[in-house]
Amino acid sequence: MSQKRDYYEVLGVSKGASAEELKKAYRKLAIKYHPDKNPGDAEAEKKFKEIAEAYSVLSDPQKKARYDQYGHAGMGGAGGFGGQGGFTMDDIFSQFGDIFGDDSPFSSFFGGSRGGGGGRRGVRKGSDLRIKLKMSLSDVAKGLEKKIKVKRYTSCNTCGGNGAKNGTSLNTCGTCNGQGQVRRVQQTMLGQMVSTSTCPTCNGEGKTVTERCEACFGEGRQLTEDQIQIKIPAGVAEGMQLSMSGKGNVPVRGGVPGDLLIVIEEEEHPDLKRDGNNILFDLPLNFVDAVLGSEVEVPTVDGKVKIKVKNGTQAGEVLRLRGKGLPNLNGYGTGDQLVHINIFTPTSVSSEEKKILEDLRESPNFEPKKGANNKSIFDKMKDFFQ
Ligand SMILES: [Zn+2]
Ligand SMILES: [Zn+2]
Repeated sequence: MSQKRDYYEVLGVSKGASAEELKKAYRKLAIKYHPDKNPGDAEAEKKFKEIAEAYSVLSDPQKKARYDQYGHAGMGGAGGFGGQGGFTMDDIFSQFGDIFGDDSPFSSFFGGSRGGGGGRRGVRKGSDLRIKLKMSLSDVAKGLEKKIKVKRYTSCNTCGGNGAKNGTSLNTCGTCNGQGQVRRVQQTMLGQMVSTSTCPTCNGEGKTVTERCEACFGEGRQLTEDQIQIKIPAGVAEGMQLSMSGKGNVPVRGGVPGDLLIVIEEEEHPDLKRDGNNILFDLPLNFVDAVLGSEVEVPTVDGKVKIKVKNGTQAGEVLRLRGKGLPNLNGYGTGDQLVHINIFTPTSVSSEEKKILEDLRESPNFEPKKGANNKSIFDKMKDFFQ
């Protein structure tokens, strides 16, 4: 097992940091390494989990005291994160999702049902449905609005969802008097013990059906193929999950429907690569075009565009097509397309072509030179990132 980093070190705070300082440090790092900001980046996800684990311990006074005294050794067993698995993303969001606050750019992905699990007691919630949605890069660029077909449980039309045959109503369960739970009192050596359990007659519903609805066999719901209009904002990335509240399954005999969770799957483009909100494209350029300058067609997420290549273009140069990338999910601007110039070298030439090239070989203009327009690739990278 690999050596674990010190939790204070992980959060970049001193041992004496206050609860407020811990929270601030965690929030800052969590936003930086957030999976939505680093789609597909396994290293960032690892960091994200590491800081969540550190914060879960240091934000809990009892665990913190134990950790301060015994270090990681004190965290095994109860309250620890034993094993390799550690935290799952769902743990993190269910425990700490609120740290991002409602104004957070990520809240839309955690909002709705995520925190709702432990909501009002007594209202039964149906199960969530999870579907995968394939999106091309141009879908991501424009956002996607479409109707999708989803098989889900909806309320039975015949009985209106209560599971009883037309017109009949439900009876209060005689076993539990409608409480849904039964209490058992036992006399033991230690005194009276009361235990409660779910009523076996009504399965905790408190009501029983005398005559079942024939359409749904008393379930109050039917499996239907539902058409759902979805709207995916531009700029989403692989693995992101959007939830549509109330579009999941209706529970048996009434209650609130669960949510529809849409997981984004990004389709690979044959020529364009995504890098955050930027698009990378490798352009194989005809050697003559590079020398004399030309106009060439390049693909973008928004169809083909013509770009000018100036004379004397070097291999390794990067042209920036401003605004031809992907829009930021939260509406903060649009990325660029970066066109990386690759000079294509023919692998076979005719004898006529060979003759022309032999003549050029000796020309002083074809002598490789270092110069202003022939910076090393390292300088170009530096220029580029400034
Ligand atoms: Zn029915
Ligand atoms: Zn009952």
